[in-house]
Amino acid sequence: PVPANTAYLDALNPEQRRAVEHGVGTDGTVGVPLLVIAGAGSGKTNTLAHRVAHLIVAGADPRRILLMTFSRRAAAEMASRVERIARRVLGDRASVMTDALSWAGTFHGIGARLLREFSERIGLDPAFTIHDREDSADLMNLVRHDLGFSRTESRFPTKGTCLAIYSRCVNAEMPIEAVLGQFFPWCSGWANELKQLFAAYVETKQQQNVLDYDDLLLYWAQMVADAPLADEIGARFDHVMVDEYQDTNRLQSSILLALKPAGRGLTVVGDDAQSIYSFRAATVRNILDFPKQFSPAAAIVTLDRNYRSTEPILSAANGVISLAKERFTKNLWTDRTSTRKPLLVAIRDEADQARYIVEQVLATREEGALLKHQAVLFRTSSHSGPLEVELTRRNIPFVKFGGLKFLDAAHVKDMLALLRFVANPRDRVAGFRILHLLPGVGPASAQRVLDRMAEASDPIAALAALPSPPRAGADWRLFVEAIENLRYSEWPVDIERARLWYEPHLDRIHEDGEARRADLIQLEQIAAGYPSRERFLTELTLDPPDATSDQAGVPLLDEDYLILSTIHSAKGQEWKSVYVLNVVDGCMPSDLGAGTSAELEEERRLLYVAMTRAKDDLHLLVPQRFFVHGQAAKGDRHMYASRTRFIPEKLLPMFERTVWPRAAASGPSSANRAPPIDIRARMRGMWR
Ligand code: ATP
Ligand code: MG
Repeated sequence: PVPANTAYLDALNPEQRRAVEHGVGTDGTVGVPLLVIAGAGSGKTNTLAHRVAHLIVAGADPRRILLMTFSRRAAAEMASRVERIARRVLGDRASVMTDALSWAGTFHGIGARLLREFSERIGLDPAFTIHDREDSADLMNLVRHDLGFSRTESRFPTKGTCLAIYSRCVNAEMPIEAVLGQFFPWCSGWANELKQLFAAYVETKQQQNVLDYDDLLLYWAQMVADAPLADEIGARFDHVMVDEYQDTNRLQSSILLALKPAGRGLTVVGDDAQSIYSFRAATVRNILDFPKQFSPAAAIVTLDRNYRSTEPILSAANGVISLAKERFTKNLWTDRTSTRKPLLVAIRDEADQARYIVEQVLATREEGALLKHQAVLFRTSSHSGPLEVELTRRNIPFVKFGGLKFLDAAHVKDMLALLRFVANPRDRVAGFRILHLLPGVGPASAQRVLDRMAEASDPIAALAALPSPPRAGADWRLFVEAIENLRYSEWPVDIERARLWYEPHLDRIHEDGEARRADLIQLEQIAAGYPSRERFLTELTLDPPDATSDQAGVPLLDEDYLILSTIHSAKGQEWKSVYVLNVVDGCMPSDLGAGTSAELEEERRLLYVAMTRAKDDLHLLVPQRFFVHGQAAKGDRHMYASRTRFIPEKLLPMFERTVWPRAAASGPSSANRAPPIDIRARMRGMWR
């Protein structure tokens, strides 16, 4: 039924409204799949949120809505937007309804949940643990060694390359020969060995009851390849919605197809011009072929009004994408006029780039904008290094997305490995990591211990029955006790127990044990937010919180902070002011790729994504000299850079070009030009 009160629809434009109302009520389109294909900032995500709210208000059961977004953060944001919209009609009941939106998350996260739930039906042990990319590479390496490939042939692909090839084959549903020929031509001679390696890798994962990222999709796809199971799971959801559909891969579309064969109740939204994940086998064909794959009757809504950016910013972004090889036919317009063109700022080096940003960020804050309404974007996580140093020096709080995560720190990984090992004692990567912590336990004895555990029906009991390795002494007893204790202790108590066991090792291994201990306590606080060890391990592995973000449950010292993010992680978001680092050739496009035309085009779209994040101010920074971090062959080096080729001469009129600092040529050396530190202000600040 169409709800009586739909005031929230008034804020939408007619196309958005058509998408929101599609199939709700009596318009005869119930069940017809819907595709919203539209440019950046045209309100796709907003429309999806309205659609969910509208469905709920019209009586849909939120527990029967499957909502898949690009990150867990995006899912949470979507849920709170839905609540805000629905609140206008449902009042306080809205929060109850949106809390029931329990199937909102990432493809991988949803996959993990379904696999656990249906594990018995597909012969899977529900206690499986999940390997992140690093664990997967480690396991691949173990298998490589076992097969002797790395020893007999030193030029055999590295563990990382092996994993990348494997992952491509799986996600693109392509045979290995094709993947090698197209993406890894220098490995073509190893096809047979790689096949053998991957077969052994798959078998090893099964023996150890671990799944890697790709398995979550692969097993899910296999599970729903069975028609009765597909029907059963598909029937649980009246609506399936996917945001950022341009970045899904073949496996993901085949899962959707199995769940909703004719696309019944399916809504996908995306922008082909923003497809930036082909290195993970995402294919823009999914969005372009949607009607062909699901139903020729699919409703297609395009949105062409951009609500995000000012006209000069939008024009410049449109200019950049108009030079793409593919034709993106969307013609976005906006009525947000402004006299401020996007800036193209020539700067001496990265140190000055950092200073420029600090200056601008503070000036913008002076004008009344919060720090968190400003973001600095970059191609690769390491590019923000000099800026982070400068921000720290100037006491400007920041949060970094898409970079090195809190969970990547060795001590945090140790703790998680311990918990994972208890949850699944057959997980050898976790086992090795933990056993290595014990003094006197080398690789050979670790291997022996794990072998004995693997043979037993109750691995932990087998562990307890083993004699202590000769040189492990008292540490061994403590270790076994800790494992046995943890096995039966209750969540979240067991993470504290784990820490108590681990702390002496921490002090022994690291000099800065004290600082690292603080991280472990933080980890405990994060854990307290999860209902079970299993949920904690699964969700942290799949979508780890960022170093200092509040999503991590970490109390922030300052409520306001600047955003630092890779462009990939900035997808879907927007800020008042956006600064893009290193908009130079060699960086954007990156010179690390193979330089194929497809790769170049993806780099162009990446710049487009970066530019379209800005609402009011956009600064593209062009350092004349920048530092390239070591690629094995090339090493660290400085590079003299020039403006990215994606902004050729003919686009320059769309930008305002400046040089910073203005009186550059004969000024004092850049190190001395740093503004004085205001010690007196700091002293005052100490008591505020
Ligand atoms: P992206 O391609 O970057 O993911 P998007 O198409 O998902 O962008 P949204 O993030 O949903 O766009 O919306 C962009 C901005 O436009 C948001 O601030 C949103 O609130 C605003 N917006 C969307 N639709 C409308 C509307 N009808 N009226 C006013 N503002 C709108
Ligand atoms: Mg969006």
